[in-house]
This record gives sequence, C-alpha cells and structure tokens, in this order.
Amino acid sequence: MSFRLPADLLDRPTPFYFYDLALLDRTLTALQQAARPRGFQVHYALKANANAPILDLIRQHGLGADCVSGGEVQRALDAGFAPDHVVFAGVGKSDAEINLALAADIWCFNAESVEELTVLNELAGAQNRRTRVALRVNPNVDAYTHPHITTGLDANKFGISLSDLGGVIEQLENLPNLELVGLHTHVGSQITNLTVFEKLSQKLNELQTWLEDRGHHLPHLNLGGGLGIDYHQPDQHSVPDFEQYFRTFEQHLQRRPNQQVHVELGRSIVAQCGSLVSRVLYVKHSQQRRFAILDAGMTELIRPALYGSYHAIQNLTSQLPAQDYDVVGPICESSDTFGRQVLLPETRRGDLLAIRSAGAYGEVMSSGYNLREKAGAEYR
Ligand SMILES: *Cc1c(COP(=O)(O)O)cnc(C)c1O
Repeated sequence: MSFRLPADLLDRPTPFYFYDLALLDRTLTALQQAARPRGFQVHYALKANANAPILDLIRQHGLGADCVSGGEVQRALDAGFAPDHVVFAGVGKSDAEINLALAADIWCFNAESVEELTVLNELAGAQNRRTRVALRVNPNVDAYTHPHITTGLDANKFGISLSDLGGVIEQLENLPNLELVGLHTHVGSQITNLTVFEKLSQKLNELQTWLEDRGHHLPHLNLGGGLGIDYHQPDQHSVPDFEQYFRTFEQHLQRRPNQQVHVELGRSIVAQCGSLVSRVLYVKHSQQRRFAILDAGMTELIRPALYGSYHAIQNLTSQLPAQDYDVVGPICESSDTFGRQVLLPETRRGDLLAIRSAGAYGEVMSSGYNLREKAGAEYR
C-alpha cells in the first residue's frame, strides 16, 4: 500500500480524518468524463460525506445534490448547490423538512408512498406552490449486497411496490399541486456486480412500456446510486470504473427520446479519498491473540461494527517484520473492532495507523458515545 501522511501531520493529535482532495478531484473528473458524453446527470448523495471542502469540489465539477433529510437540503443550499439541482428522497420526510424544501423550490421530491404524496400536495398548496415529484418504485431487484444496505426488494421499507404503481399514478391526477416528472429507484449500496444494474435497466424498460401503454410518459428517470468500491485494494483501484458503470446503463436501458437520466452516487465518489488516522495506545498479548488498541473506535468509524465491513489497515510508521493483530478501539463494546488477524508490521505504542477507504459513511456516522469528542479533519 502506498498511502503516506504529509510530514507535518505526523505529530498532529489523533484520531482525525485525512482527505486527499487531489484524489477526489481525479475521481470527479473521471466520473464526469464517463457520464457527460452519455448524457447522464450525476447527483451526489450528501449522506456519504457532507463536509464543506468536499461539497465545494463536488459542486465545482457540476454535480447536483441528492438529500435524504431537511438538514441535508439546507447543507446543500449552504454549500452553493442551485435549488434546481437538489432532490429530496427518503421514506420518512417530516412536515418541517418538506416545508423547508418547498420554500427553497428544489428540483424534485422523490416520494415513497400515497400518504406522503397527499401531505406533499397539501403543504405545497399552503405555500401556493406547485412542485415536481418522482415516484420511488421498488423494482424488486436483488443487489446481492449486505442485507442492511439492500433496499430494492419487496421486503424492504423503501419505495412503492410495482403492483401499486398504477393506482398511485391515478391518484396523483387528483393532487393539483404535484407534477409527476419521473420514476426513481435505488436498489442498494456497495454493488460491485454490474449485472444488478443490467437487471434494474430491464425492469425499468418493462415498467416504462407498461406506463406508456396507459398513456404516461415520463421525462425523467433516476436510477439511484449504489456503485461499490474496492475496499481490499484502495491504491490499485483508487478511482472506480465509472466507464463500465455508465456503459451498462447505456447498453441495457431503453431511453426514450429526450428523456433525462439521473444517477445518485455517494460512496463511489468519496470513499477512497478518506482515511481515518489513529495512534496505537497499547499492544496487548493474550494467550491466543495480539491486540493493537487504537485511540479511534466505532465512534469515529462504525461500519465494521454495524455491517461487519472490511477496511484495509496500514501501519504508517513501522517497517518491522509483519505479525497478526486484532485491531480494536477503546469503546466498551466487543463489536468495536476494525479488523481481526490483520497482518501488520510489528506494531508498538505510538505507531500511527491508517484505516483506509473511510471517506464515505465514516465521519458522517460518528457519534459521541462514551462522551468522546468529535475527531477533526485535514484536507490536502
Ligand atoms: C444512500 C442513497 C444513495 C447513495 O448510495 P451510494 O451507495 O452511496 O452510492 C442514493 N440514493 C438514495 C435514495 C440513497 O438513499
């Protein structure tokens, strides 16, 4: 692995997040080079990481913002995203959140139930507005990813099931403050098998034909996000293969003339540019194991505890021969473990470790459990 910390940060208090903005810049360039010629519009899913310097760079590359809370809508607007490049999704939008987004006149609400549409229509009317909606459909496509991040199956709470869609569209005709502009899907996250997107395309093709037979023509399609990254080899695959991702949709999705197609990517844009940097507090030997106990834990990065996720771990300071370590945090939970039997150069108190690919769903998910202070961030 080739990650190096700038020399001036070697003595910085730990833990902290380190963000490589040059890598983020290269990632965004590759993304837009793959998306733009094919006519795809990319919205960035703020929930992956909403830090200001990161949002700035993303906005400069011309992406829109995909938000799942009022707080995210506000953050996107504060970061300078134009309201007509902001979409608001989520299965449980509160009245206050809807009102905030209506007042800002965002581009589109991705609605997930009939009841939500009714409320949206009422609140829009109260503000003397008409707003645009896309219906989130649940295409029943298996993302073959971790059960906690699979969202497109009938058993998940998200979206409107296909069997209800016709009825919902009819009901929309009685809601005068809403304009139906399209369909929205999002089938899961950390998807590395592109046949999932092929199947999603086929489902959407059938669905569009079915809707057109009933006289509904939709100017927009939103395919959601979910493209995965290589957590095992962050340096060999620091920029995801966006070409192949968009080519899959280009080949399998039957776009209608003049139809706008959107995707909402989070992880694949920001994951590889972030590392969690932590210092070894203690090394403890038991009968069977060696533990490297860090000053970072699940409070800074919860993915391993929450999903059993793998993150590559690198010792930044030791060059000694390698040994196996269980790399753990200081929190009073056994799940507070970053990796078991991790091969690391012999590790000692004071060594600096980097937990890689932590730019997405890392810092945003941090908590103050055990009354810990929030870790800082550095950008280069
Ligand atoms: C989380 C989410 C995304 C982004 O998912 P990634 O796997 O990070 O690309 C996109 N759309 C919606 C609706 C989401 O909830």
